[in-house]
Parts: sequence; structure tokens; C-alpha cells
Amino acid sequence: MLTYEFDIIIVGAGHAGCEAALAAARMGCKTALLTMNCDMVGAMSCNPAIGGVGKGQLVREIDALGGEMGKITDHAGIQFRVLNRSKGPAMHGPRAQCDKKLYQFTMKEVIENQENLTLRQEIVERFLTEAVSDQRSAVSQSDSALRTRPDSGLKITGLICKGDTLYKAKAIILTTGTFLQAIMHTGEAKVVGGRAGDGSSQGLSESLTAGGFELARFKTGTPCRLNGRTIDFAGLEIQAGDAEPTPFSFSTSRITSPQMVCHITYTNQKVHDLIRANLHRAPMYSGQIHGRGPRYCPSIEDKIVRFADKDRHQLYLEPEGRHTREYYVNGISTSLPKDVQQEMIHLIPGLEKAEIMRFGYAVEYDYAPPHQLQATLETKKIAGLYFAGQINGTTGYEEAAGQGLLAGMNAALKIQQKQPLVLDRNQAYLGVLIDDLVTRSVDEPYRMFTSRAEYRLSLRHDNADRRLTKLGREAGLVKDAAWQRYQAKETLIAEIHKEVNSLRYEGASLAHWIKRPGTTWEMFCEWAPQLKRYDSYQLSAISYQPLSTQDSALRTSAIEQVMLEGFYAGYIQRQGDDVARQNRLEDKRIPDQFDFTKLPHLRAEAREKWLRIRPRTVGQASRVTGITPADVALLVMGLEG
Ligand code: FAD
Repeated sequence: MLTYEFDIIIVGAGHAGCEAALAAARMGCKTALLTMNCDMVGAMSCNPAIGGVGKGQLVREIDALGGEMGKITDHAGIQFRVLNRSKGPAMHGPRAQCDKKLYQFTMKEVIENQENLTLRQEIVERFLTEAVSDQRSAVSQSDSALRTRPDSGLKITGLICKGDTLYKAKAIILTTGTFLQAIMHTGEAKVVGGRAGDGSSQGLSESLTAGGFELARFKTGTPCRLNGRTIDFAGLEIQAGDAEPTPFSFSTSRITSPQMVCHITYTNQKVHDLIRANLHRAPMYSGQIHGRGPRYCPSIEDKIVRFADKDRHQLYLEPEGRHTREYYVNGISTSLPKDVQQEMIHLIPGLEKAEIMRFGYAVEYDYAPPHQLQATLETKKIAGLYFAGQINGTTGYEEAAGQGLLAGMNAALKIQQKQPLVLDRNQAYLGVLIDDLVTRSVDEPYRMFTSRAEYRLSLRHDNADRRLTKLGREAGLVKDAAWQRYQAKETLIAEIHKEVNSLRYEGASLAHWIKRPGTTWEMFCEWAPQLKRYDSYQLSAISYQPLSTQDSALRTSAIEQVMLEGFYAGYIQRQGDDVARQNRLEDKRIPDQFDFTKLPHLRAEAREKWLRIRPRTVGQASRVTGITPADVALLVMGLEG
């Protein structure tokens, strides 16, 4: 049998797989990225956009840790907007429409050029394990928050691909997205496949079930795509991007590529009547689909049923790229039959003569409920096997990429016998994402919202580098240029901060004035003209010499940090007490073999949930859905007794 050997193998080259593979290879591991179709590396299966509220923060964090998504978005973006601008900075969500193919091909090129990384087209059919003989080799890193022994007593050794090829590895990361036993639905028609034009992954689900993993079904959907030549844009509202686009990557100084516009149109009563008359042909309503769909990204048929009193729904016509006339109709995801989709589109203003290039469809697929994972994304059952992305019950490119990055980093750290990287809820949205998944599991596709983060005032997109770049550097992912830039910024922030604390206006320090809403840096410069020198501040003066175009971006973001941190200081200090209390609970470890059944007076529900999740700290135990303070008190007594 043809045999290959790697340190780490990633299965699937979607958003999770690409970040995982780049991270592992950049951290020095011999890595393979196996995917069904090399032409679809980094493909955007649904809308051609990255970011948004909550999701934009994730992309900035990925970038701060040394990931790729932000850089490629800056390169491939065709329209940049910061959403929620009217709200406070903690609610701002950077978003970019992308040239879909440029994004995909740039990611493929980055991967092809990455040292230590082999990209190969393969269909993975099953994984291989063997009993753990040397316990030390199978243990998760020495962090006592992680399990010391896999539940099955097995560790991963490799996988078999179609055509009998053996790949041996010390760690394997599954990032199979919407492809496990996937079925696509358009009306009554069913086709096997995880995405239009692609196949489905059949064998792996069986291998996972045989390995003792629990699988369940979710569904997601996508709208039809139109030929822009046949859209009448004349009467439609225009939606332009921001005049000054905000980049995603901390290493991008400025977006200079020309921006494109989107257009807005609406559904109407005729469209709604047509959908109602055909609901019995929609797979979600005819009983053909059993999996649950994303509540926050409903299909148009769902919207008509759930929001029956609304007389119209907004639709965005989004260009899919600079070199195509294809348009994505955001807001009308559907799996209605083709004839209904055709009729529905023609009832919408501006689309009366629009030609459909691709029909909408829904896809139903297997996912692995994520309570089966540790906080490193390594499975509890099999040592060295990691899951990341949509396979964990999430939805969205950003959620997938963030998990991929952390799984790739943790697999590499484990092989190098180093401490894992587990982010706390107060450190990053990525920490919130993974803690939510492994602690609460999912019963509907999970997407990120700012409301999920209790410490969101300090988890802003603008300070992701300040929260995470040091961790990315320590893990070996953040390159020299980005690290120097980060250090230069920190030095400048400290200098400005010092000055703001010492300069006075009307008897009070500028630091005092910062807390007043409406205070701006320009006002400070009027009150204390010596601050104006920062407008022409050369970074060379603080020993680093990045390009001068970077100087101005860096200066702006350093000033922004001083102003924002000053403004939020009081709130963040109050949050600090909360964080300290939570950390005390986080420090109380629950031993691996702790027997929850022996806790006297514990409610059956709490016992059942803790047995399922098997939390590793009292903090994690307290966050499991349905757990009460009384349950936690019993647990603490049990641990102390
Ligand atoms: P994917 O991007 O799906 O990548 C999976 C990769 O695994 C692919 O490269 C595939 O070839 C590979 N693979 C699978 N099995 C094997 C195997 N056995 N061997 C080798 N390679 C394998 N997200 C939203 O946020 N909003 C939406 O409205 C939305 N709608 C969607 C509609 C559709 C029809 C689809 C398909 C997806 C939609 N998504 C949506 C989800 C979004 O596409 C995913 O969240 C994201 O792409 C997940 O990334 P991933 O890396 O986990 O998996």
C-alpha cells in the first residue's frame, strides 16, 4: 500500500482546514492537507462575505494570533463596512464583501507556497487507531485542565484514503464541514453532496460511529445566484461601503483597491403568497429534511412562516467578484423547487427579468456534538484526534476558521510537548466560542454574537492584537514583521498614555476628560498643542522603522487605543472583579476520575449533564446549561470533602 508519514494531517481544506494546516506547518510540523477537490480550497460555500457583528471580532482575533483569514480578506475585499457604527465600539463589527474566487485562489496560493505543508486531493475514508501503550505519549499536554487519558484508551495513528493509500500521523484534525453523509435538497429533488458541484463524504461517518462518537444532523441553505446583466438596478437603493475602509489585518495599513456597491430590494405580498401556496413542496415543511437549521439565518420560507405579519423582507444583491456578473441574493436562502424559485424571483422589483445562474438549495449533514471535545478541540475519546469547524455544529466561515487555527496550534503544541493554548472567555471571542461548544454543546447551528460574550467591552475588534498577539508569538505563529509592528504600537501607546495622564486642562488631567462622552483627540490637541507632534510622529524615533504608510495607520490605532481604554476604564475595572471571581472558580480543578454520581443531594438533571460534559473545572461546571448555584455549592463541598 502506498504510504506517507506526517506529523499532522488535516482533512478538509475549507476555512477551518486551511487555518489549521497553515498554523501547524508554520509552527514547524510536517503537515498534510487532504481535500476532496483541490480547486475548492478555501471556497466560500455560501455568501461571498467575511465578518459582521461578532464574526468580525473573530477574524481580527485570528489575525492577531497569526492566522490568514484577515489578510486574504483585505486582499480580496470589494466592499468594506463597519456594521453597528451608531453603537459603542464594543458592538462594531467589521465586514467585507469579497471577490469569491480571488479569496479562494489566494488561499490556495498561500497554502501551496507554505513550507512544511503538502496539499493533496484525496478522499479520506476512515481513520486508524491503536491502544495507548505509553500513557505519556497519549496524554494531552501537562495542563491539568485537560484529560490525562483518552476515554477509549486509544490514540490516532493514521487514515486510509480511497484507492488504498495509507497516511500515518501523530495527530489528525477533521474539518469536513457540511460534507459528512451530505444530501442536498431543492424541492422534491435530492442529490448526494455537501455543496453544489462537490461530492459527499460517506465512509468517515461510519468510521466515527464505529469509534464510539455520537453524530447528529443539521441543515443549512443558500439562495439562488443571478446574472447581473439581467437585473434592472435602475430603481434599486444603492448600498455603498465605508468611505475609508477598515482593514481586517493588523498588518494591512490601508485598503486601496476600488470598492463596489451592493443594491437593496424587497420581497412583497405576491412573493409571500406564492411561498405559502408552495410550502408543502419545501423540504423543511414536507418532512423531507429532519436536521435543524440555523435560527439566525432562516430560509425565506421560514421567514414567511415565522414572521407572518411582516409585509416585506429586505434583500441585498451582492456582487460575487470583480470579474463575474454573478450576484448573490442575500436574504432569500431557499430549498423550494426550481419552478417556484424562478417565479418568486420574477415577482421582486428589479429582478422581473433576472436569469438564475444557480438555484438555491439546502444541505443536510452529520455533525459531532461538541461536548465530545476538550477545550483544545482534541476529542475526549481518541488521543491525537481533533475536530474543528462546521463538524462541531457551528455555522459560518469565521467560526470555522477560528476553531481550525486553535486546533492546528494545539495539535502542533502537543507534538512539541508544550502547553496548550486554551483562551479564557475574558480573553477572546475565540475563548467564548470554544467554551460554549465544549461546555454547553449545541442543539442548533451555533454562530457568534456579541451577546454571547459577557466581557465584550474589553473584547473589541480594535484591541484584538493587544489581547492575543503575544500568545501567537509565544506559540511561534506571529512573524517578525507583525511582532515588531505590535511592539512599536505598544511603545507608542505607553508614551501617549503617559502624556495624557500628565497634561491638564481646566485643572483636570486629560485622562479625566477622556471619560466624558464626546471628547476627541482633536480636542486634546487644541487644549495641549504639544500633542500635535504625534501627527507627524516617525516610528523610527522609537527604534523601529516600518514603512512610512504604516506609520500613520499605527499612530491612528495607538491614539484610538488610548482614547478607548480611557473611556472604558471604569467599566473594565468593574468587569475585572467579575473576572477575578470567575478565575477563582476556574482554578478549582475537578479530577479526571471524579464521580459525580456520589455527590449527595445533587439534582438528577445536574448529575446527568455533568456526566455528559464532564467539566474539568468548577467554573466550567457552573456554565453548563441548566446548572444552578446550589448544584455548584454541592460540587464544591464534594471536592473539598
Ligand atoms: P467547509 O468549508 O464545508 O469545508 C469542508 C472541507 O472538507 C471541504 O474542503 C471538503 O472537500 C473537505 N472534505 C469533507 N470530507 C472529506 C473527506 N472525506 N476527504 C477529504 N476531504 C473532505 N454559513 C453561514 O454562516 N451562513 C449561511 O447562510 C451558510 N449557508 C450555507 C449554505 C450551504 C449550502 C453551505 C454548503 C454552507 C453554508 N454555510 C453558511 C456554512 C459555511 O459554508 C460553513 O460554515 C463553512 O464553510 C465551514 O467551514 P469548514 O471549514 O468547517 O467546512
